[in-house]
Amino acid sequence: NRRIVLASRPQGEPTAENFRLETVSKPTPQSGEVLLRAVYLSLDPYMRGRMNDAKSYADPVAIDEVMVGATVSQVEASQHPDYKVGDWVLAFGGWQDYCVSNGEGLMHLGASPSMPSYALGIMGMPGFTAYMGLLDIGAPKAGETLVVAAATGPVGATVGQIGKLKGCKVVGVAGGAEKCRHAVEVLGFDACIDHKAVDFAEQLAAHCDKGIDVYFENVGGKVFDAVLPLLNTGARVPVCGLISQYNATSLPAGPDRLSLLMGTLLVKRIRMQGFIIFDDYGHRYPEFAKDMSKWLANGEIQYREHLVDGIENTTKAFIGLLKGENFGKLVIKLNEP
Ligand code: NDP
Repeated sequence: NRRIVLASRPQGEPTAENFRLETVSKPTPQSGEVLLRAVYLSLDPYMRGRMNDAKSYADPVAIDEVMVGATVSQVEASQHPDYKVGDWVLAFGGWQDYCVSNGEGLMHLGASPSMPSYALGIMGMPGFTAYMGLLDIGAPKAGETLVVAAATGPVGATVGQIGKLKGCKVVGVAGGAEKCRHAVEVLGFDACIDHKAVDFAEQLAAHCDKGIDVYFENVGGKVFDAVLPLLNTGARVPVCGLISQYNATSLPAGPDRLSLLMGTLLVKRIRMQGFIIFDDYGHRYPEFAKDMSKWLANGEIQYREHLVDGIENTTKAFIGLLKGENFGKLVIKLNEP
């Protein structure tokens, strides 16, 4: 059983030294348990928060413990009445080959799912996040302007495409020309702007000539700074993530713009609301799954994966995720099915 543990807590950007790949013996399932062999491991931005020793909506990973993460796994041995050898499940197995489970928190994916890794992306946590955050908090209406950053990642790409299905004008923000071209040509966004461009704020303003009605916040930082003056009266801002700040060790240097933000919220009656997907919306998963399955089957939603082979490449891929090196949903293939 190969596994990656957290060796030390990153200060700022994580480095290879913060992790350790080790080999331990394979666990043995007891009565009522299954032995799961991971095929796909999901890498997600929230994992950076779990590396800090700070109180949040979930506990930190302890030093020398296996890094957490969702996996799509197959049952290798079963002493559980509901699972047969070979069954596919969505589990929370972490950055390792094997884990045992008593069935709690597992989701059946069947004996031969057509796209098993989709359970980590478009049909799973990121897709569900995009759907609920946009529709429940963003409440987009036809004709409105929607802006979303990390536009080619699993959350942003889905937000923008659902926005188009709801009749919005969609302006994406992404890092680099290739990602921006993908957002327009493949995902069908009206425009996509490179946040690395020197005139990024001017370009955003030019493309949002009627202001911004819904800003789906994935990144924070200078993207939000450019968005704030463009928000319309009555705008909605689902606060989903702030990835540009996840490696920060202190607040950004001044000037303090908090009063500008508060004044804008007040005068323009803007609704800004954070959410944690499963805590707030877990009970609404079936509604999402029904709509998303239909959209995928009809070709109304496109989905791109960034697949990396091998547990030994996990750490490097995760470090890259926080710098925009992924192009699509980042998934590690740990083992052959
Ligand atoms: P992505 O695959 O989109 O990966 C992150 C992307 O963020 C990078 O590829 C990069 O894209 C962009 N990025 C990184 N640093 C910066 C920066 N400094 N400025 C601008 N963009 C940056 O991730 P997900 O789709 O999985 O997640 C998107 C967001 O949603 C994250 O903030 C995540 O934490 C959040 N989230 C929140 C949930 C919740 O329950 N609230 C649940 C799931 C996700 P590019 O190269 O285009 O800049």
